[in-house]
Amino acid sequence: MEEKTKPKIDLNRISMPHQDPKIRAHNYDEVALGYTDEMTKQEAGRCIQCPKRPCVDGCPVNVDIPEFINALREDNPTDAVRILKSKNALPGICGRVCPQETQCEQVCTLAKKGAPIAIGRLERYVADWESRHKKQELKPSESPRPSGKKIAVIGSGPAGLTCAADLARLGHEVTIFEALHTAGGVLIYGIPEFRLPKKIVQAEVNYVKSLGVEIHLDSVMGKLATVDELLESGFDAVFLGTGAGLPMFLNIPGENLNGVYSANEFLTRVNLMKAYLFPKFDTPIKIGKRVAVIGGGNVAMDSARCALRLGADEVYIIYRRSRAEMPARHEEVENAEEEGIIFKFLTNPKQIIGDDKGWVKAIECYEMELGEPDASGRRRPIVKAESEFVMDVDVVIVALGTTPNPLIPATTKGLEVTERGTVVADSQTGKTVKERVWAGGDVVSGAATVISAMGAGKRAAASIDAFLKETG
Ligand SMILES: Cc1cc2nc3c(=O)[nH]c(=O)nc-3n(C[C@H](O)[C@H](O)[C@H](O)COP(=O)(O)OP(=O)(O)OC[C@H]3O[C@@H](n4cnc5c(N)ncnc54)[C@H](O)[C@@H]3O)c2cc1C
Repeated sequence: MEEKTKPKIDLNRISMPHQDPKIRAHNYDEVALGYTDEMTKQEAGRCIQCPKRPCVDGCPVNVDIPEFINALREDNPTDAVRILKSKNALPGICGRVCPQETQCEQVCTLAKKGAPIAIGRLERYVADWESRHKKQELKPSESPRPSGKKIAVIGSGPAGLTCAADLARLGHEVTIFEALHTAGGVLIYGIPEFRLPKKIVQAEVNYVKSLGVEIHLDSVMGKLATVDELLESGFDAVFLGTGAGLPMFLNIPGENLNGVYSANEFLTRVNLMKAYLFPKFDTPIKIGKRVAVIGGGNVAMDSARCALRLGADEVYIIYRRSRAEMPARHEEVENAEEEGIIFKFLTNPKQIIGDDKGWVKAIECYEMELGEPDASGRRRPIVKAESEFVMDVDVVIVALGTTPNPLIPATTKGLEVTERGTVVADSQTGKTVKERVWAGGDVVSGAATVISAMGAGKRAAASIDAFLKETG
C-alpha cells in the first residue's frame, strides 16, 4: 500500500524586494516594492489553512485572512479583494503600515516553528492588484436601503473613515467633517510618501466616498459648529475620530529657538504641504547639515528619514533608553539604519543651544543608564552623573508623542475627559457618557496604531447602528 506523506511546510517566508538603501535615501519613492504575482502565489501557498484561524482574532477588524489567502492560492484575486474589503475599507494602507508582527502574524500557527505567513504583504498585493485592474464588478455592488438616519463623523483619519464606511454600508447618510484641506488624517499629513504613497490613501478615501459618504474639508468642528449644534441641526448621532494631533515637548531651555520643530509640524510641512517637492511647492522648511530627532517611535523614524531625504548630511536619533525599548516598528528601525541614520541610544537632551540670531547651533545631552522597570514595564532611564556632552546641530525635531487636541472637549458640554486629555468612551462600543455621541481611535486611546483606530471605528459604527434601530 502506498504510504501517505504529509506535505512539507515551508518555514521561511518570501522576502519582499526593497529599493537600494543608498538610492532610496535620496528619493521619496516607495521603499518596499511589493510582491510580484509569483511571490504572492508562493507565499500564499505556505498558509496551512489551519482550522483554528488565530490570525482572524489577531486582526482588530477581523478580516477573514485564511479565506482571502485561499482565494490567492486559487488564483482568484477578484474574490480576495471582495473578502478583504468586506471587513476592511483601507487594505492598501493596512498592508503597508499595520504592525502585523504584533497582531495577526504574531499569532499565526506557523510562527510557532518558523516565519509566520506574510499577511500584510499579501494584503498589500490584493489592494494593489485591485487598483491595477479597475474592474466594474469590484465597485460596491448594490446600494443598501436608506435608513433615513444622519450621522456626523468628525475627523477623516482611519477611525473616522472606517466608522463612516461601515455606517454607509448599513444605509445611513454619513457626513465627515475634516479640519484639513485633504482627507486621511495622519495617513496624509504624517506618514511619508516613501512608506505610504498618497495616491494609495486617495484611492481608499475615494472608495469610502463611493459608498455614499460625503466629506466636507476645511471644516474645523468646535469652531464651525459644535457637537451640540450638529445634533440640534438634524444629525442623529456624532462620532468623534479627531485623533491625537497635539505635540508634546521636552520643556527644556532652548526649545523655542528657530530651527526646533515638533515632528507634527515638520512632517505636515514635508508631507501635506509637500516641502519635499520644492520649488514646485513653495513650503519653507529649514534643514541644514546636521539634524537631531528626539524620540524612539515611528514618528521619530519618519522625521529622521524625511530629514535625510531633504538633504541633511547627518541625522541623529536621540533616544533615552536602549534599542530594546524602542517603540518603533522593528522594520522601520532597520530601514532607517540601512539608510544611514545614526542612533544615539541612552542619550537625553539637557538643553538646545542657540546662536546670537536665535537659531539652533547645538544640543547638549546627558548620557543615561537603565534602572528598574517603571510603570510602562520598561527599564527607567537615569541620568549618569557629569556625563553632559554637546553635539553641533542645525535643526532639532521633537518626536515625543502627542495628545488629543482640546478643541472638541472644550466646546462640547457633558463629555468626560481624562487627565491626559483623551475622551472617555466604552472600549467595546465607543459610546461616550454624552447622549448620541461616540468616539474612537487616538482621541480615546492616545497615540496608537492605524488598525486599532479602525477597530474602534468599526465597533462604534455597529453600536451607533444598533442605537438607531432601537430608537427608531
Ligand atoms: C508620523 C506618524 C507615523 C505613524 N506610523 C504608523 C505606522 O507605521 N503604523 C501604524 O499603525 N500607526 C502609525 N502611526 C499612528 C497612526 O497613524 C494613528 O494611530 C492613527 O492615524 C489614528 O487614527 P485616528 O483616525 O484616530 O486619528 P488621525 O489619523 O489623527 O485623524 C484625525 C483627523 O481628525 C481631524 N480633526 C481633528 N480635530 C478636528 C476638528 N476639531 N474638526 C474636524 N477635524 C478634526 C484631523 O485633522 C485628522 O485628519 C503613525 C503616526 C504618526 C504621527
